[in-house]
Amino acid sequence: MSSLYFQVCAFFIWVLITIVYFSKQRVKSLETRIYSYLLFITFFSLFFDITIIVLTYLEPIEYLPVIKVLNKFYFSSILMWILMLCKYVVNISYDLEVNNKKLYKKLDKINFLLYITFVIIIFILPVYIYNENGIMYSYGESLNFLLISAGIYALIIVGCVVLKFRTLKNKKYMPVFILIILIALNFIVNRVSPDLLLTTPIMTYIVLIMYHTIENPDMKLINELNIAKSQADKANNAKSDFLSNMSHEIRTPLNAIVGFSQALKEDDDLPESSKSEVNDIIMASNGLLEIVNGILDFSKIEAGKLEIINKEYYFAQLWNDLISLTKARLGDKPLDLQVKYDESIPKVLYGDSARIKQVILNILTNSIKYTKEGYVDFRVSSFIKNDICRLIISVEDSGIGIKAEKIENLFTKFQRLDEDKNATIEGTGLGLAITKKLLDLMNGQITVQSKYGEGSKFTVIIDQKIVHNPTITNVVNNPKIENDITFEGKRILVVDDNKINLKVAIRLLRSYKVIVDLVESGQECIDKVVEGVKYDLILLDDMMPKISGIETLKKLKKIEGFNIPTIAFTANAITGVKEKYLEEGFDDYLSKPMQKSELTEILQKFINNN
Ligand code: ADP
Repeated sequence: MSSLYFQVCAFFIWVLITIVYFSKQRVKSLETRIYSYLLFITFFSLFFDITIIVLTYLEPIEYLPVIKVLNKFYFSSILMWILMLCKYVVNISYDLEVNNKKLYKKLDKINFLLYITFVIIIFILPVYIYNENGIMYSYGESLNFLLISAGIYALIIVGCVVLKFRTLKNKKYMPVFILIILIALNFIVNRVSPDLLLTTPIMTYIVLIMYHTIENPDMKLINELNIAKSQADKANNAKSDFLSNMSHEIRTPLNAIVGFSQALKEDDDLPESSKSEVNDIIMASNGLLEIVNGILDFSKIEAGKLEIINKEYYFAQLWNDLISLTKARLGDKPLDLQVKYDESIPKVLYGDSARIKQVILNILTNSIKYTKEGYVDFRVSSFIKNDICRLIISVEDSGIGIKAEKIENLFTKFQRLDEDKNATIEGTGLGLAITKKLLDLMNGQITVQSKYGEGSKFTVIIDQKIVHNPTITNVVNNPKIENDITFEGKRILVVDDNKINLKVAIRLLRSYKVIVDLVESGQECIDKVVEGVKYDLILLDDMMPKISGIETLKKLKKIEGFNIPTIAFTANAITGVKEKYLEEGFDDYLSKPMQKSELTEILQKFINNN
C-alpha cells in the first residue's frame, strides 16, 4: 500500500498540469497534440494502477480475475504512452510532419496497426499474479511482451537521441534524457525493491518535466511569436534594402539631371529663353527628389527605424536656414513672407534640429503651395520653464483653406484634399503624415485652424532642453550661399565609379575655381593619396565595385599622416544614413543629387577651415 502514496501524489500533479495546460491558449501543432494525448494516457495508466493497488489491498483473491483484466489495460496504456513518446521524439528529431508528410502518414498508419496488434497480443497472452506479504506482483508472457515492445520503442528513442546528437543543445531533448535516466531508474528500483511501483509516477513526472521545458504553452506561443517576429524582421530588412537600392537607382540619374541643369543655369552663354526651361527642370527634379525622400522617410517611420537624434544646436541657425529655404521655395510667387522671431529663445537648444527643420519646412512649403496670393506669416514664440524651452511655431497663410470636415484627414498618408482644385499643385499627400509621425516621435504636437477659402494656420508645439554650457563649437553660423564664392588653387579629389556622376561633379565644381581630380575606384583614390598628392577635400562615393567607399576610407586612414577631410558622397539617402557614414569615420555627408547650396556649405566648412 505504501506505493499508493506515489500514485496519489502523481495523480494530484497530473490534475494540476492538466488544469494549467488546458486553461491556456495553445499553439496548434503535432507536438502539442501528442502532448495532450500523453496527458490523457497518463491519466488512464494512473487510474488502472491505483485501482489495481486498491483492489489488491481490499480482497485480492476475490478480485483476481478483475485485477488480471485491469493489468492488461494497464499494460496497454503503458505501451500507448511509450509509443506516443516515441512519436514525439521522432517528430522533434526529424520534423517529419513538415519535411516528409507522406512518410509521416505512412508511419502513422503502421504505428496504429502495430499498436492494435500489440494490444491484442497483450490481451491474448496470460498474466499471473503472485502474492507475497500482501503485495501483488504480476508476471507472465503478457508482461514480458509489454517489456519487449516497450523496449523496442525505448531503443528507437535512444537511437534518435544518438543520431541527432549534434542538435542536443536544443532543449527539446532535455525530457528525453531525463526519461532515459528515469526508465533505467525504474528498472533498477523494480529489481531491488519490487514493492515500489514507480512506473506511473515516473510517467507523470516526465509529463511534468515536459511541461516545464518544451510543452509549456506560454513558451510555445513566445517561440511562435519569435519566429513570426524574425520573419517580419527579415521581410522588413528586405524592404529596407529594396528601398535603399531604389533610392540609389533613382538618385543616380537624378544626380545627372539636377547637376547638369544647375550648371546650365549658371552658364552665361545660355539664352534667356532656355534659362526658364532649365529652371523648370530643376523644379521638377527637386519635386521628384522630394517624393522619393518622402516615401523613404515614411517607410522608415512605419518600420520603426527612424531614430530621433538629439544634439545641441543653435536655434538661430535653424531659423535662418528655414527662412532661406522658404525664400528659395517662394521663388517669384507674389506672396508676402512675414517673419517674427522671439529674441528670448535661448541660443543653444538640445533636440533633433534636422527633424524639426523637416517638419516646419513641410508646413511652410504647403503654405506656399496652397496660397495663390496674400501672405505667409511665419513666427516663433517661446515659453520657458526650468530647463525646458517650449517652442511655439506657427505658419499662417491666406490660401485656399481646408474644409472643417476634412481636417481630420490631413494627417492620413496619401490623402490629398480638394483634389479637383489642387490637381495642378504637385504633391503626394505624404508630407503631413510624416510631419505628424515625426512630431509624435519628438513628443511634439501640431494643431490646425482653417477657414475654407480664407486661409489656414498650422501651429507646432515642441519642448526642447536648454543648453547652458554648450559643447558645440565650429558652428557655421549662417553660411552664406553665394553664387560667386570660390576656392582658387584648392584641390579636390572626386571618387565615383559612375562616369556621369564624375561629369556632374566636375561641372558643378568648376564654378568654385578648384582643381578637380577624378578617379573611378577606391584603389585609384588610395594610390593618389599614397603618391602624395595634396588634396584639400575628397568626395568619396560608397557603393562602388571591388572596394566600397567605407573600405576605401578605412584603408586611407591607415596611411601615415592622412588628414584629408573625406566626405561620403552617395546616392544612398535613406534616413539615418548620414549618421551611419559619420560613425564610419567620414567627416560629413553629401547626398546625390548634389544640391549646390549643400556643396557650397561643405566646401566652406572644410576648405576654409583648412
Ligand atoms: P501634399 O502637399 O504632398 O499633397 P501633405 O500631406 O503635405 O501632402 O498635405 C495633405 C493635404 O492637405 C494637401 O494635399 C492639401 O490638400 C492640404 N493642405 C496642406 N496644407 C495646406 C494649406 N496650408 N492650405 C490648404 N490646404 C493644405
